[in-house]
Amino acid sequence: MIFKLVGKFQHYDWGGENFIPHWLKQSNPEQKPYAEYWLGAHRSAPSMIEFEGKWIALDRVLDKAPKLLGDNAREKFGDELPYLLKILDVQKPLSIQLHPTKKEAEFGFEKENAQNIPLDAPNRTYKDRNHKPEMMIALSDFWLLHGFRSPEEMFATLNARPSLQALAQSIQARSLASVYGEIMQADQAQLSQWLQPIIEENRLAYQEDKLKLENPDYWVLYCLEAMNISEDKLDAGLLCFYLFNIVNVKKGEGIYQGAGLPHAYLRGQNIELMAASDNVIRGGLTPKYIDIPALLNTIDYRPITPQIIPEYSDDEPLHLYPTPLAQDFALQRLGFKPFDEIGFRATSASILLVMSGSLYIDLGEDSLYLTQGEAAFIGADTEAEIIGETDGYAVIASLP
Ligand SMILES: [Zn+2]
Repeated sequence: MIFKLVGKFQHYDWGGENFIPHWLKQSNPEQKPYAEYWLGAHRSAPSMIEFEGKWIALDRVLDKAPKLLGDNAREKFGDELPYLLKILDVQKPLSIQLHPTKKEAEFGFEKENAQNIPLDAPNRTYKDRNHKPEMMIALSDFWLLHGFRSPEEMFATLNARPSLQALAQSIQARSLASVYGEIMQADQAQLSQWLQPIIEENRLAYQEDKLKLENPDYWVLYCLEAMNISEDKLDAGLLCFYLFNIVNVKKGEGIYQGAGLPHAYLRGQNIELMAASDNVIRGGLTPKYIDIPALLNTIDYRPITPQIIPEYSDDEPLHLYPTPLAQDFALQRLGFKPFDEIGFRATSASILLVMSGSLYIDLGEDSLYLTQGEAAFIGADTEAEIIGETDGYAVIASLP
């Protein structure tokens, strides 16, 4: 079975005003930030599907008709859609964050329930019992922080800046784990001692656009400007630019982030696919709730060499993005041209989102027409023919 699916917006203040409304051909007269467009059944913002002539929330439809998820998926994940598909427009940097393992999420969720912290309270960290590995494919040149640098790189980066040399010595003398906890809880005087000399030295070069984007100093000054951080209220998260990998994902490429890997999206637009969860443990660069004990408890200190998911290169219409560690989701790209007929079989419940162009999903008696920004929910064990109307591509989220 196939249903038309309409997502939900998240107007977080780091979102841009134009990208998502333009792509969906909607107007935004109030100039609200459109940060995320969610397609899935997460209970805090479920998408709507057209079911027997009415628009109903997808989570409620799946409660009534869990067979749509498929037997294999139900055995493994219960009667919930395991993944969540999103479009993101990152205009201002997001918080330094990480996501828990399933075990930590279950424990944290129960603990906060026992403490009677309401699900929507600002000081609530665990919104559900699920882990949240995530992958993304860039829709523009995209910049992010992604895991700790190698020790060689970290020491070279810190030692190149006189005000951070003492930090390099502390990490060498003790451990990254003990020093990182101190950094994230440093007071204003200490933050100023580390960062102020760097800010002064680079201010002019930043204003004249002379700093490279690989240079952490650029991002410190960028965050001050974009996030309106005043120099007498510096944020410990700014130190992360010297400790984490600064990664540039080119349009069409992607990256995967597992549990415990610290990261922050800095700038750009992307398609994100993740386990159906909203569990974010934040460490800095945000007005939202920061939970340093949870962060330090979960963070993966191992040095990371970023693994870029390559852009599709095959001529086949269906391309699977390789994410060998992901159990809860898989993302495919479907390229099409006018009159192309592409056979498609959903082995698990799938979401097809048209990124550009238009197509028909043909089921024999029935067909569904979708154009840019429109989506379909496809029940498990559905076979269909996808027929291109114009040039374009869609993405399909499903289980691996
Ligand atoms: Zn994240």
